[in-house]
Amino acid sequence: MIVGLTGGIASGKSTVTNMLRGLGAYVVDADVWARRVVEPGTEGLREIVETFGKDMLLPDGTLNRRALGALVFHNEAALQRLSAITHPRVREGMRRETEAYLREHPNMPVVWDVPLLFEGETRRLVDTTILVYVDENLQLARLMQRDGLTEEEARARIRAQMPIDEKRKLADYVVDNRGTLEETREQVAHIWRTLRNSTAGEV
Ligand code: ADP
Repeated sequence: MIVGLTGGIASGKSTVTNMLRGLGAYVVDADVWARRVVEPGTEGLREIVETFGKDMLLPDGTLNRRALGALVFHNEAALQRLSAITHPRVREGMRRETEAYLREHPNMPVVWDVPLLFEGETRRLVDTTILVYVDENLQLARLMQRDGLTEEEARARIRAQMPIDEKRKLADYVVDNRGTLEETREQVAHIWRTLRNSTAGEV
């Protein structure tokens, strides 16, 4: 069983991921694959350079993220072309990593850590979903605090995602991270036990 884990920015997804790892969960990280598929020597990087030009490379041959970011920012068509290059490769990498783990641990859940699970196509590939939830005011406060942002900057980042209250309606499990870390840990342990029990009998 593949379990999609998501949140809103600064809702506590990384915190919960660490808790799940502590409980023995295997976590496949979409951000790790997003970096991997554009490393030097990959097809992904080659296609980016073919599509957007050599300016997308730094002198050492790695991806110039700043240049690419500036290019796709406010340019929906370019962003779509970039996504068409990277997203299928990210999903394929996650699928292969999952298969390798499940060969050794066939009756364990696998957690897919995906920041934009409900915004993108990955939702179709997971069997169940967990949302790490805080209300928008707390999200704003924790984001400003963690990243040292002004209220305006933090609001802009939150606005770029699906509102967390909408995600809440779509999720199968919700971890309410408005309380203490200990309260969150208890909810995470409970959900993990439920998921373990439901996969224990699977082959
Ligand atoms: P995400 O991965 O969703 O962006 P993080 O796990 O980094 O979010 O959490 C955002 C910030 O809020 C971090 O600074 C983290 O330490 C803090 N935080 C997370 N959960 C709690 C909590 N239950 N109580 C207080 N602070 C928290």
